[in-house]
Amino acid sequence: MARPIRLVGEPVLHEPARPVAELDAAVLAVVDDLLATMRATSHSVGVAAPQIGVGLRIAVVDVTGHPKARSCHGELVLVNPELVLAEHPAVGREGCMSVPDLTGDVARATHVVVRALDRDGVEQIIEADAFEARALQHELDHLDGTLFLDRVVAADRLFRRKVYR
Ligand code: ZN
Repeated sequence: MARPIRLVGEPVLHEPARPVAELDAAVLAVVDDLLATMRATSHSVGVAAPQIGVGLRIAVVDVTGHPKARSCHGELVLVNPELVLAEHPAVGREGCMSVPDLTGDVARATHVVVRALDRDGVEQIIEADAFEARALQHELDHLDGTLFLDRVVAADRLFRRKVYR
């Protein structure tokens, strides 16, 4: 079930999330809610558990069909994800459902390797580049209580959205 998105300023978005200890029914329900929440917003390419008010290290990403995507793994469920390689940074524009009024320029690695458990508890190694790499880093940041606002390259590189949705 899609859940309301928490907005910047709410404590759950600004504190580190806890590791998932066991992939039990409650955790799988969070995964399903994350996927439903991502699907409910047509332009969303990812959602992290803190954004739906859950302080656990779980995120989902799906850049399918995005014009800026190069690598594309389809729907990714990431439990306890870790960034194991991040290289070749480049600046690009980002937005976030938790910050509906603003976009900003953020430097991110354009090539990453992420290790995470999938929804069955099986370890997966994801090598991604370009837009998918950016989306992964953005969602992993949420699990550390970091928003793109905290990483904008300069104060004058933050922009007000003309229209949201
Ligand atoms: Zn976000």
